[in-house]
Amino acid sequence: MVEVRLEHIKKTFHVKGKDVNVLKDVNLDVPDHKFVVILAPSGEGKTTLLRIIAGLETVDSGKVYIGGKVVNDYPPKDRKVAMVFQNYAIYPFMTVYDNIAFPLKIAHVKKELIDKKVREAAKMLQISDLLDRKPSQISGGQRQRVAICRAIVKGADVLLLDEPLSNLDAQLRTLARAELKELQRRLKLTTIYVTHDQVEAMVLADYVAILHNGVIEDFDTPINVYKYPINTWVASFIGNPPMNLIDGKLEKDTFKFGRFSVKIPKKIINRITRKTSRVIFGIRPEDITLNGSVKGKVEIVEPLGSQTLIHVNAEGTLIKLIIPAIKLFKSGDEISLNLSSESAALFDQKDQKLILKR
Ligand code: ADP
Ligand code: MG
Repeated sequence: MVEVRLEHIKKTFHVKGKDVNVLKDVNLDVPDHKFVVILAPSGEGKTTLLRIIAGLETVDSGKVYIGGKVVNDYPPKDRKVAMVFQNYAIYPFMTVYDNIAFPLKIAHVKKELIDKKVREAAKMLQISDLLDRKPSQISGGQRQRVAICRAIVKGADVLLLDEPLSNLDAQLRTLARAELKELQRRLKLTTIYVTHDQVEAMVLADYVAILHNGVIEDFDTPINVYKYPINTWVASFIGNPPMNLIDGKLEKDTFKFGRFSVKIPKKIINRITRKTSRVIFGIRPEDITLNGSVKGKVEIVEPLGSQTLIHVNAEGTLIKLIIPAIKLFKSGDEISLNLSSESAALFDQKDQKLILKR
């Protein structure tokens, strides 16, 4: 059983006489065997956080637990944690075999034992037939597996991955992503993966943690974070295009903005956790349908292939919706939208927080 727990982690860098508060109060529970993705734009401290867990960076305050033990004072080699860096850090001049064997060699492990471990791990990662090749002779996805293989020969319980797919081209990335997910299932390693790519987070994660301004803003399953973001910042960070957020008033079961009224389904009303009338109504572009109470003008039409993204101006409120490509509109067309969706969310205008039970 190896879970990772971060308690009140704080980290400040001093750069040119200035304090940069990268991590202000990070709290995170990564359950045993789970795949947790930390999602954040670049520069928010993802790499720093992974380095802290690996023991490559100290904290100003807070505790790092691995397998129930506080490991703040443990050196990296005693944490049973393996980190795969952004660029894999595999050596181009060594064979795949030597790359995987490297950490064992420098730890002065006996040659026969190295051989056994390398071959076992390679078998697990299905790269046994690549052992004699040089990194230049294998694909990007295979290079990733070599890097993971090297990480796990050391016998790690926890795998830390720092944007491992970001150097691959789009097609390979999709393939490598699927492979990685399957691999993690098979190896059952507690995995923490950081990325700025929300699609990766959605596809890979058992749980997503959204890091913003030095704290974890939201932590839940990808679907919950997507459908019911904890606040409007998360709502507008996740999704492309993001959730529509409309200021207005909630009167009983009707949301009013401008001269429009939208009936809120009972399913949503029943889940309201806080009574307030000044709300922000949130709806994903794909949850809006046609022929409803909100009338507007089409401003921009963007064909996306299987779907079409339409920008609508509803008397000054901009609303984006995604509909099946078959429905054709052009700019200037009159359009009416149905926002009465059971997938809508509600936020309080005061503190921008979700006021629905997930
Ligand atoms: P991310 O991985 O999310 O892009 P990083 O953890 O690499 O973010 O960096 C977060 C912030 O901390 C950045 O502003 C970066 O410049 C700063 N930073 C990271 N490492 C150091 C360091 N060793 N010294 C000073 N500043 C650093
Ligand atoms: Mg980084």
